[in-house]
Amino acid sequence: MPAERLTIIGAGLAGSLLAALLARRGHQVDLFERYPDPRRQTIPAGRSINLALAERGRGALDHAGLLERVERFALPMAGRMLHDAHGETRLQRYGQRADEVIWSVHRGHLNQALLDAAEEQGVSIHFDRRLSEADFDARRLVFQDRHTQLHHHEFDLVIGCDGAGSTLRQAMQREINLGVSEQALGHGYLELSIPPDSQGAFRMDPEALHIWPRGGFMMIALPNPDASFTCTLFLENDGQPGFKQLQQPADMRAFLQQQFPDAVALMPNLDRELNEHPVGFLGTLYVDRWVLDDRAVLLGDAAHAIVPFHGQGMNAAFEDTVALDRLLAEDLDRARALQTFHQTRKPNADAIAAMALDNYLEMRDRVRDPRFHLQKALEWELEKALPGRFIPRYAMVMFHPEIPYAEALARGNQQTRLLEELTTGCDRLEDIELDRAIARAESVLGVE
Ligand SMILES: Cc1cc2nc3c(=O)[nH]c(=O)nc-3n(C[C@H](O)[C@H](O)[C@H](O)COP(=O)(O)OP(=O)(O)OC[C@H]3O[C@@H](n4cnc5c(N)ncnc54)[C@H](O)[C@@H]3O)c2cc1C
Repeated sequence: MPAERLTIIGAGLAGSLLAALLARRGHQVDLFERYPDPRRQTIPAGRSINLALAERGRGALDHAGLLERVERFALPMAGRMLHDAHGETRLQRYGQRADEVIWSVHRGHLNQALLDAAEEQGVSIHFDRRLSEADFDARRLVFQDRHTQLHHHEFDLVIGCDGAGSTLRQAMQREINLGVSEQALGHGYLELSIPPDSQGAFRMDPEALHIWPRGGFMMIALPNPDASFTCTLFLENDGQPGFKQLQQPADMRAFLQQQFPDAVALMPNLDRELNEHPVGFLGTLYVDRWVLDDRAVLLGDAAHAIVPFHGQGMNAAFEDTVALDRLLAEDLDRARALQTFHQTRKPNADAIAAMALDNYLEMRDRVRDPRFHLQKALEWELEKALPGRFIPRYAMVMFHPEIPYAEALARGNQQTRLLEELTTGCDRLEDIELDRAIARAESVLGVE
């Protein structure tokens, strides 16, 4: 493999992992990041502090030899802890096997671990360098530092890992029509926190992802290694209730107190956080073309930012990095390798975008419906009876990286129709004749 100059824009989660992978192959890798080194300064408050890491992301970390390093600060979450309006809780496990858990990881810690790994592989990391212009004919990039001084850099291939607002994507768009569209969700998010108690212990069960589903909106909480929880309120922007209507901290506090009294009782920093934390934007980004011949390619959020309700944006971005790393190693015709990357990843990116939107309805609303729980119970029976053939869609996405997202979506749709049919007129699992249900599933799913 020739050692060529590969340039990556954005030292976030995807960029730093990809840099480590490509440098390990012997490439000379330059990684540019607009912000200063996060290992030397604190992370701004209120910006998706922790993330759910699932098997796809873990597989990519394993491929990079970094899984053990990340596991040291990852916390397992075995299921959803549902908090109803009366403060009653109910744990709904994610899977029936003990190892079917997802992991809460601190974004800052993860990014730092990936930057360390990139540096260990010999990547040249250039902090405080914001991409401002790209000349694809001359294969030259222009970066600005915080003093607005310009820096020039030449590349063979430039890879855009610069997130949803990607500057590289905008520059590529000036060369060819990438077919970019953005669909705003109309809901935003606000991060709050539940700190440890006076003994330094967790104030709620740390082995769960907590959800307060309220129909049109919801709050969730993920544990952190310091025994705190990061809570995220998801709410319409213009609705009633909505972020605009509740702009005044006192109005928001009253709303939270009314809807989530059990959580608010655990939030001593609420007033300060309501004053300081911004409301974040949520939307889905669709890009029809990710590649500019053999010169540029987009991946991660720069190519397919999605809403966070399946906890898969980073996981999908990590899958991208492994796919690109392998393709660049296997196919020395770079333009063809990049096209193959786009062709194989794009249908999967579209599929997880659709499933992430659907999961918002599940988390904020459907989990309150007894029929949903009946269908979950039946799903588990079918999974036990038809192992490998009937796998709940959530499990396919979170625990089965060997099943591409597009296949998980198609199989999931078929299974949903089946579950609807089998639970019609039934209130409890005992009302369903399991043998007949399994036989019907076999005939629908084509099991011998
Ligand atoms: C509220 C919320 C919760 C989420 N929860 C989850 C979850 O539980 N699980 C999950 O898998 N995903 C989750 N996600 C999605 C996840 O955060 C993203 O998919 C992931 O960060 C994408 O990684 P990336 O490297 O592509 O982009 P980013 O992480 O956005 O990194 C982009 C990097 O590029 C840099 N950059 C930008 N512009 C320039 C420029 N012009 N020049 C140089 N550098 C630049 C940025 O500073 C940044 O470091 C969540 C997202 C949100 C908003």
